[in-house]
Formats: sequence, C-alpha cells, structure tokens
Amino acid sequence: MDDVPNSEHFALTPIGHVISDYPDKFGIPRQPGLALAAHARLVLTPPYNDPLAVRGLEDFSHLWLSFIFHQSPERWSPLVRPPRLGGNKKVGVFASRSTHRPNRLGLSLVRLTGINTHQGVELTLEGCDLVSGTPVVDIKPYLPWAEAYPDAQAGFAPAMPAQSKVVFQPSALKVIAKRQDGATLQALIEQVLAQDPRPAYQQGIPTERLYGMRLRDVDIKFRPRQNGEATTLEVVAIEPYGSA
Ligand code: SAH
Repeated sequence: MDDVPNSEHFALTPIGHVISDYPDKFGIPRQPGLALAAHARLVLTPPYNDPLAVRGLEDFSHLWLSFIFHQSPERWSPLVRPPRLGGNKKVGVFASRSTHRPNRLGLSLVRLTGINTHQGVELTLEGCDLVSGTPVVDIKPYLPWAEAYPDAQAGFAPAMPAQSKVVFQPSALKVIAKRQDGATLQALIEQVLAQDPRPAYQQGIPTERLYGMRLRDVDIKFRPRQNGEATTLEVVAIEPYGSA
C-alpha cells in the first residue's frame, strides 16, 4: 500500500521563503498588524513557483501564511510566559502565540500588494511579522466574512497593546531624509519602536541605556526616556548595518 500516505507523521516542504525588513528576530512586532509599514517578499520555490498555482490570488487583499518558526528551538514546554503578561505569568502553550511550540508552526495574516510572475512567482506583502529567511509552508486567501469576529473574547490579550511614543534626534531624521525609502523606513521605525521591543523585565526599570536593532539595511540605536508614567523611545542614530 505504498500510495497510502503515512497519517501519523507529516513531512513539510517549504513552498517558499520570506525576504523581509527584519534581518533579526529582535524587535519584530508580536503580530503582523502592528507594523503595516513592514515590507516583505515571498519568493516561491520550484515546483511551487508555477504561475498557475497563484491564479486568482491577485483578487484577494489579505492572505494567511503558514510558516515554520525555524529560528526557534524544537524543544517546547506546556507552559509559556507571554511577553504580554510582563513575562512573569504562565499560560498553556496552546493558549498562546508563542514561537516555542510543538511543530513550530506559525500563522500570520498579511496584506498582499502584488504578484510578480515574470520569473517564477514572487508575492509582495505588507505587515509581515517574519524574520528574513522564514520558510513558508502554505498560503491561503483570507475570507473576512468567515474569519473576522471583532467581538470575540481574546483572553490575556484583549486589545492592542499600549503604544510607546517615538521621537527622532535631528541627525537621525537627516539620514532618513537622504534615503529613497525614507518615508516607509521612518514609518517602520515608528511602528516597531511603538511596541517597545525591549524585554518585558527591562521595561519597568528606569534606564537611559542604548539599545540597537536592525531594520532593512540599517542599525537603529535608541534609548528610553522617562516622561512620568510613560516611556518615550528616542532614536539617536541610524547607521548602515555593520558600521562600527
Ligand atoms: N503571527 C505569528 C507569529 C507570532 S509570534 C503567529 O501568531 O503564529 C511573533 C514573533 O515571532 C516575532 O516577534 C518574531 O520575533 C518571531 N519570529 C518571526 N519569524 C520567526 C522565525 N522564522 N523563527 C522564530 N521566530 C520568529
């Protein structure tokens, strides 16, 4: 019975890979809708890069991507500490969107802005929360009439997290002004830092220490500034990646 597939173990083959604005995991927002200025391409791999396989997809504005958290370890535990709970309360792994889970499968809803079939198939995407290089195992069109329940109950994450204020030093704004992609880069930095990417346990501690994160081809240096209860994150430098 060679033609009966094994129904206990399933081998997944990526249909393509994402090239995104996020060279590293650090700083990536925790859901795709939190930084819509994040651009990405999904490059399909042969034999899945047949233009026939995406026929009709151009008429959908949003897609579900199933992917593998390939930068997460295979080990997992039944309890996880969601950053949303400050990193000190535990919930079940299946009650979370943790990246450390059995099978390491991820699911992201993204906006489809274009399909290029000149050479293979490449999809252009917006609002993607995936690190560059992430293997994608499936694409499905999003059906708002069946899949959107704005009044649904959302446990420990009932609403969009509070956003931090983001300001730029004049020298950082100068760097942005010189770039062709300046407008989208600035929006991306604002949206990413508004999520306060610092580890949860550091967020309550007053500090002016300098943090760094990579976006597109640049290193962003930022520091927290306390203004009463709230924290403002200040962008102090934007440098080409790799410069000392
Ligand atoms: N929307 C997805 C992802 C949520 S977790 C889902 O719900 O399944 C989002 C985090 O995944 C990001 O903050 C980022 O740090 C991490 N991440 C993105 N791509 C990853 C990858 N390929 N491997 C491991 N972690 C990844």
